[in-house]
Amino acid sequence: MVVDEVRTDGGGIVLTARSVTREAVCPDCGAVSGRVHGGYRRRLADLSAAGRQVVIDLLVRRFLCPAAECGRRTFVEQVDGLTERFARRTPLLRRSLENIALALAGRPGARLATHLSIPTSANSLLRLIRRLPNK
Ligand SMILES: [Zn+2]
Repeated sequence: MVVDEVRTDGGGIVLTARSVTREAVCPDCGAVSGRVHGGYRRRLADLSAAGRQVVIDLLVRRFLCPAAECGRRTFVEQVDGLTERFARRTPLLRRSLENIALALAGRPGARLATHLSIPTSANSLLRLIRRLPNK
């Protein structure tokens, strides 16, 4: 990943970044593709820095799956340690909020998260707990 720009935006910090790997793996069939078919920007909330909220404005690319027998024509790359399918948070932020949720649950957890500049709602914290695998 390359960071192109770091700027402040309101009270927060925005990192503009892009992935620079040449290939990506199809999530359905496992085929490796180097054929880029467009891309789009994803905004991912990350852990705070220097008391400010951090957003990563990440350019991700769509690749063509090369396998003729694969039902998926295109797929969007996932960036290790940064993106998860459909997620608007980085895995690091998600795990931090999960730990806050497990320790404090809804409203107290939301207050602590806001204090740490990773604001979220009590309901969001409870949803994170419900999505955790049972151990
Ligand atoms: Zn495929």
